[in-house]
Amino acid sequence: MKAFFDERQWTHDPKHFMANGTLQPSPEQPERIARLKSGAEAAGCAFEAPVDAGLGPIAAVHSSEYLTFLQNIYTRWQRIEGAGAEVIPNIHPANRSDSYPKSAVGQAGYHQADTACPIAEHTWDAAYWSAQSAVAGADALIGGTRAAYVLSRPPGHHAFGDLAGGFCFLNNSGIAAQRLRAAGYRPAILDVDVHHGNGTQGMFYGRDDILTVSIHADPARFYPFFWGHAQERGEGAGLGANLNLPLPRGTGDDDYLETLRAAFRRISAFGCDALVVALGLDAHIDDPFKGLAITTPGFARIGAAIAEAGLPTLLVQEGGYLSDALSENLTSVLTGFKGK
Ligand code: ZN
Repeated sequence: MKAFFDERQWTHDPKHFMANGTLQPSPEQPERIARLKSGAEAAGCAFEAPVDAGLGPIAAVHSSEYLTFLQNIYTRWQRIEGAGAEVIPNIHPANRSDSYPKSAVGQAGYHQADTACPIAEHTWDAAYWSAQSAVAGADALIGGTRAAYVLSRPPGHHAFGDLAGGFCFLNNSGIAAQRLRAAGYRPAILDVDVHHGNGTQGMFYGRDDILTVSIHADPARFYPFFWGHAQERGEGAGLGANLNLPLPRGTGDDDYLETLRAAFRRISAFGCDALVVALGLDAHIDDPFKGLAITTPGFARIGAAIAEAGLPTLLVQEGGYLSDALSENLTSVLTGFKGK
C-alpha cells in the first residue's frame, strides 16, 4: 500500500500539557512516528515524501487569520519578557464575540481550545508537512490509487477551522476530504479514534456535501466533553450529514463492530464514493487514555469491515499513544484491510 510521511514531521516535540491540574509530559511524542512507521511497514506500506502542494488545500478549510497565527505566534511569544518555551494560553473566551485581540496572549486563547496543543519553534513546520502528507494521499486516490495510508503526525481531528486543540493544529482528515470534494468526489469521513472528531464535525457541520461520522467513547465523561453527543446531527444545509455514535466506556470488539456496521449503512445511504478514515488507534484496551477496549485482533476486524465497503479509501492517522501494542495495532488494522 502507498503511504505518505515527511521527515519534517518529527520536529514538533511538545513537552507539557495540563491534566487534572498538574503539569504532565505530553503523550503526543515524536516516538509515535517510529512505532507507527514500523507498524505500517510490517503491513507492507512503502513510504514516500509528499510534494509541496502549497497552502491552498489547507486554506480551503482553515481561516487565513488562524494560519497567520500558527505561522507567527511562536516568534511573537518569544518577545514576551519571561515567556515559556511553548505557547500555552492562560485565558480563553468563554463565548467568542466578533472581536479579535491584538495581543499574542489573547490570540493564543482565541485559537487554542485547551492546554494540549502547545506551540513551539517547529510546530508549524511539522503540522504543515503532516497536512501535505494527507494532501498527497488524497491526490493518490484522485489519481486512481485504491487505498493509501497517511502517517499524519501531529494528528488533526480536534482542529477546527480556526482552533487548535487536543494535540491537533491542522485537520489532516478534513483537508484530505475537501481535496477529494474539490476533485468532484462525494466523500465521507469515518472517525474511529476513541475521542470524538470535534474539529472535523465543526468544520463541515453546515455542509451536506461531506458526511462526517464518528464512533467514540461517550463524551459525557470523556474528552472532548462539549461535542460528540448523539443529538448533534448538523445544522442548516448540513442537518442529517453528521452522525455521532458514542459508546459506553470499555466497549469491546463485538459491540464496536456492530456500531461500525451502522456507520457504513449511513455512509452507503450518503452515496459516498471516496472514504477518509480518521484512523485513531487509541480505542485499544491498553492505550493510556483507556476509553474503549478494542483488542489487537479487533483492529484487524475493523480494517476488514472498512475494506468491505469497497470504496477508494484514505487511512489518515489520528491518535494512538505510546503502549507496547501501538505498532502492532496499526499492522493489524492495515493487514485486516488488505486481506479483503
Ligand atoms: Zn484520540
